[in-house]
Amino acid sequence: MPTGPWEKRQVLMVVKAYPNPEDEYGEACCTAGVDDDDNWIRIWPIPFRDLRPDQKFKKWQWITATVRKSNDPRPESHELQPDTIVLGDVVDTKRAWTKRLAVLAPHYVKSVEELQEMQKNGAQTMGTIRPREVLAFVIEERDDPNWKAVQAAQLNQQGLFTAPKLALERIPYKFSYRFTCDDDKCKTIHKLQILDWEVAEAYRSWREVRTRRLGSRDALEVLAGASGQGPHLQFRQLHQIPRQIWDRRNRVPTKARATRRQLSERTTCQPAKI
Ligand SMILES: [Zn+2]
Repeated sequence: MPTGPWEKRQVLMVVKAYPNPEDEYGEACCTAGVDDDDNWIRIWPIPFRDLRPDQKFKKWQWITATVRKSNDPRPESHELQPDTIVLGDVVDTKRAWTKRLAVLAPHYVKSVEELQEMQKNGAQTMGTIRPREVLAFVIEERDDPNWKAVQAAQLNQQGLFTAPKLALERIPYKFSYRFTCDDDKCKTIHKLQILDWEVAEAYRSWREVRTRRLGSRDALEVLAGASGQGPHLQFRQLHQIPRQIWDRRNRVPTKARATRRQLSERTTCQPAKI
């Protein structure tokens, strides 16, 4: 698929995944957001840790940047010129997440199944999904807890114009949710991995606490407990909407509150096979 023309776009960034080794930049992270015309935009790769401090956007922050449709066949996939990023306003959480939920509202799909159907038709590969029930927060040790040799070599590349930075750590665990969709078409239990940068940071943070007073397994259980307080998973990304706010805004019956969460699905950030 040919690339599109470069153009300046305004995008509200709502997804930031943990970085991965990448050829061009040594490492890069996948991000995604909604533009000012309400279109999903997946942006990959972004050498986030090499950006200037005045370009490092937060989640829920508007940016202006020069982007173009990448050659990845998925309709939302774009690439970006990193040196063109200009930071804008951060969308706040005031009045019970009114502004943030308004951004997400047009993007709900009924189920993973429906999104998979849309993906098959080439129409859409990103969306927000409301689960009927969240069954488990799953923590698994990776079979490959260290970077592979080729990945380590990619990470060791040092850009000519970038400042030295700490080595990118391979997080030795995978974190996932098991859930069913709030749709009668849902016939299975889904398991989606959480790729959120903040989950990796939560793990690192609790591990540091553990070195002072907790055991490793305790630290992970604390992380699991925190996620049970009512996370908002969006594109496998945790947004910490307090559960009572989410339930109130969506009029969830009291009985369902213990299990109702907001999750969503996206396909991987790596370019799809063409
Ligand atoms: Zn389903």
